Amino acid sequence: MTDCIFCRIIKKEIPGSIVYEDEKILAFNDIAPQAPSHILVIPKQHIVSVTEIKDDLLIGDLFKVVNKLAAERGIDKTGFRVVVNHGKAAGQAVEHLHFHLLGGRDLSWPPG
Ligand code: AMP
Repeated sequence: MTDCIFCRIIKKEIPGSIVYEDEKILAFNDIAPQAPSHILVIPKQHIVSVTEIKDDLLIGDLFKVVNKLAAERGIDKTGFRVVVNHGKAAGQAVEHLHFHLLGGRDLSWPPG
C-alpha cells in the first residue's frame, strides 16, 4: 500500500530506526517511545489489523522476533509488555498490524 507509512518504511522510502529484518518481518524503534525500549514488530505483508490475520504461522514468527529483541535488551528478565491496538477505541493510529514491545521501566496496570 503506497499510502501506508509502515509499508513505506519497509520499502525504505522513508527512514526507520530498524533493529531487525528478515524476509517476512521488520522491527524498528517507535518514533515516540513510551518506554526505554519501545519497538514496533510488523509483518512486511500489509495486514490492516489483528482481526485480519489469516496465517497462524505469522503470529508465531512475530512473537519469535519479539522474544529475540526482548532477550537482546535484557527485558525478558525484568519484564515487558506486548500491545496490539485494534480500532478507534484502542487508539490504533496506523492501519498496518504492529506489535508494540515495551520494556525497560515499570509498566502500570490497568493500561490507559
Ligand atoms: P498505534 O496507536 O497502536 O497505531 O501505534 C502507532 C505507533 O506508530 C505509535 O506508537 C507511533 O509513535 C508510531 N509511529 C508512527 N509513525 C512512525 C514512524 N515513522 N516511525 C516509527 N514509529 C512510528
